[in-house]
Amino acid sequence: MPHTAHIVQPLFTAEQIAQRVDILAAAIAGKELNNPLVISVLKGSFMFAADLLRAMHRNRMTPQAEFIHLSSYRSGTKSTGTVDILRDIDSPVKDRDVILVDDILESGRTLAFARDLILARGARSADVCVLLDKPGKREVQLEATHVGFTCPDLFVVGYGMDVGHHWRQLPFIGVLKKRDDEAQLDML
Ligand code: IMP
Ligand code: MG
Repeated sequence: MPHTAHIVQPLFTAEQIAQRVDILAAAIAGKELNNPLVISVLKGSFMFAADLLRAMHRNRMTPQAEFIHLSSYRSGTKSTGTVDILRDIDSPVKDRDVILVDDILESGRTLAFARDLILARGARSADVCVLLDKPGKREVQLEATHVGFTCPDLFVVGYGMDVGHHWRQLPFIGVLKKRDDEAQLDML
């Protein structure tokens, strides 16, 4: 599937995302966090985490930043259940307030795994901050503390999110459309 055969129809613009990121950072900064550690769940959250961290800085926060690479196995575009740690964080989390940052909360398996792991290691708290929430797709009970946007049950790309590692570079979030789908065409 060459990505040139598709266009991306915008769902959330760069401006809308920037506004929400500022609001999320202000909400996080409003909490009294103890030695806060932001953990970006790779790969999809890298762009969101980078913008969120800069927005935290504007809100006078001084969090540390870390990365964990988790694989939630998927068959096609559907989650199958198993989660593995591909790369762990290096920092201790004991007694710290952790903010887990991810792109999308869907089945909830990836973030439930991450949250349980961080709490089992002795974190004082593990809040979940996601850019997109697809509440209709939840398979384990997990609610995010901070949500950017509620997302329709569509496969989205851009702003770090991919299909086959394509489209992460887009500054906005959108839905893939076949190029010949002229009716939907909103060319970029
Ligand atoms: P879950 O909540 O464990 O099912 O997995 C959520 C993860 O699946 C996200 O962090 C993304 O990496 C990936 N994912 C879910 N929906 C989408 C989508 O629409 N586009 C791109 N990646 C997605
Ligand atoms: Mg992910």
